[in-house]
Amino acid sequence: MPLRARLTAAFLVVVLGPVLLGAVFIGTAVDAVSSGRASDRLDSAAQAISATVSASCERLLGVAGSVALLASDAGAARSAAKQAVADGPAATIRVETGSGDPIGFGERPESETSARCDHSTGEIEQLEALEARVPIHDSDGAERGSVTVWTPIDATFVNGLADVAGGVDVIVDDSRDDPLSTLSNRRLATRTLRAADDVATGSVGTNDSGHFVRAVSPRPDAPIPLVLATKPPPTQGLFATLGGIVVVAALLAVAAAAWLARSTTRPLAELAAGADAVAQGELSARVPVRGHDELATVARSFNRMARETQGYVSALTASRDQLRGQLALLGETLSSTLDLDRILEVIVDTSMAVTGARSGLMLLVDPVDPQMLRGRAGDGFAADDLSPTEVAVRLGEGLLGRVAADGLPRRGRIGGTDEAVLPAAGEPTCTTYLAVPVRSVTPGGSGDTDGAPPNGTLLGVLAIYDRLGGDEFDEVDLSTLRTFAGQAAVAVGNVLSHQEVQRLSLTDPLTGLWNYRYLQVSLGREVERAGRFHRSAAVIALDLDRFKVVNDTYGHPAGDVVLAELAKRITNEIREVDLAFRYGGEEFVVLLPEADTEGASRVADRLAQAVRGAPMSIPATGATDSISIDITVSLGVAVFPEHGVDGPSVLAAADEALYAAKAAGRDTWKLAATKESVSPSN
Ligand code: GH3
Ligand code: MG
Ligand code: MG
Repeated sequence: MPLRARLTAAFLVVVLGPVLLGAVFIGTAVDAVSSGRASDRLDSAAQAISATVSASCERLLGVAGSVALLASDAGAARSAAKQAVADGPAATIRVETGSGDPIGFGERPESETSARCDHSTGEIEQLEALEARVPIHDSDGAERGSVTVWTPIDATFVNGLADVAGGVDVIVDDSRDDPLSTLSNRRLATRTLRAADDVATGSVGTNDSGHFVRAVSPRPDAPIPLVLATKPPPTQGLFATLGGIVVVAALLAVAAAAWLARSTTRPLAELAAGADAVAQGELSARVPVRGHDELATVARSFNRMARETQGYVSALTASRDQLRGQLALLGETLSSTLDLDRILEVIVDTSMAVTGARSGLMLLVDPVDPQMLRGRAGDGFAADDLSPTEVAVRLGEGLLGRVAADGLPRRGRIGGTDEAVLPAAGEPTCTTYLAVPVRSVTPGGSGDTDGAPPNGTLLGVLAIYDRLGGDEFDEVDLSTLRTFAGQAAVAVGNVLSHQEVQRLSLTDPLTGLWNYRYLQVSLGREVERAGRFHRSAAVIALDLDRFKVVNDTYGHPAGDVVLAELAKRITNEIREVDLAFRYGGEEFVVLLPEADTEGASRVADRLAQAVRGAPMSIPATGATDSISIDITVSLGVAVFPEHGVDGPSVLAAADEALYAAKAAGRDTWKLAATKESVSPSN
């Protein structure tokens, strides 16, 4: 049963029930009051009628008595009797004096059945008249005659009684077939008389037509048996009004119930529709607010909820779009650039955007000192006046050093439960942190897995700080940051392998020295720089002496071993800034930035000494594992700007000097001849 129907039904029960009960009560009360009133009316009518009949008797007795007083004088009696009939109230009078004929006036009643005043009455039937009789006494006091007076009990008489009784119906109860009554209907009169028989004396009953009925018993002073009947006062009108009121009340109640149910259930239906709309994603849905009742409060709350949800969703959508942009940038950067710093910067920014961190930092292991982590990219430290690239942390120290040393991520709050770990000096200060190691991805390795021993080589640490809102970073952030650490590892790996490829393309695989291609680049760069800063740069050309013999004697592989050993000895003799190249075959070039003639000559001498000074061990074909052979080199030295205006000419000068050294008997070095034409003034 829907709420609306239940509310309507409840309201109708609550309102209509009392209305109906009230109507029934009023109806019953009206009924009781009207029968009480009818009963009272009949009682007072009975009294009035008895008194009237009694008064009639007294008048008749009075007339009879006055005629009896004159009975001794026949003439006077006669004229008095005549006068009484003429004037009323007697209709008939008869005087019997005991002597002579009786005197009579008026028509005598047919039968002797009269109701006799002042006389106990027995069974009375067919009453025709009311009779009063007064005896005539002689002087001795003996009764010698009588005066009898009648007045007829007829329709006039009965109507007169009815008038006296205030309009009640009067029936003479004298066992007649056609009762004398004021009722128009003979059968109704008969039925009323029958009903009166069943009613106790002095009580009020009803006949089958709804009349109230009361019997008036004969008594000596009012000897006519009568039955009074009265119609109950008309209550139909009253009941019709009552019914009308009930119907109107019912209609009003139904209307009010319908309105009440509607005004209660409509906002609920609207709320349900609104909730459905919101559930389907229509967050702009609102419900109407009517009035100031509880339902209006609920509607207002609903609207506020929908509005705020809409706000949150907009904010989420905006942040999702921002994130999307950031991820797109990350993808683009990862796939399109080998600029490691740019990649790491974008990884840090994306990590911050995704986790809502205030700042982030990426450190890589220092290639020169693997015990140090150095900041490579970072963001959000402007307020702390911290440059991310200046951050340097020793492995095992502070927060980031620990993460790098253990190879396990750490997250938490400074001053929280993890008191043992605090940022080292130089590390960013923070409230909450999350740091994960960045390790190289090994083929088939499982990467970062909790509890598992770290896979791959440590490349660095990725850390984010101070989550917006103050909460600690959670497991989701950890897994996100691990993903980005993986990206960073891939990026670092890509860049390193690219650098390796580049390195391989510029080096000689046999000796590990730079190749001819890099010689051209380096020579051009160094000579250009020396020219710009008015400095010098030296080139030494170097060639093995009689190397063909070595090859021919010990085989080509043995020659290769000699070449590799020679490369080592050259590398050992030169400074870090100097560069050694395999020029081709068994010829080498050493580039000495900033070196002048003197310095370059010293190096040439040292190199010749380094080769000559110790025999080289080569694999043997015979019984022994290896044999030692003596090797020498010839060298030519040329210096910019003395021996050449540019790289190629300096190199050519060195080559010429080398040939000069060969020509001079080998195992020696020669300085290039200073060319007149190379004067700077020229
Ligand atoms: P010199 O320079 O003193 O005049 O005598 P040489 O015997 O060294 O003469 P030359 O420079 O003409 O000989 C070059 C030899 O170097 C020829 C070749 O067999 C050898 N050679 C060149 N490149 C390689 C190499 O990559 N491996 C080996 N094993 N030998 C090489
Ligand atoms: Mg040669
Ligand atoms: Mg040679």
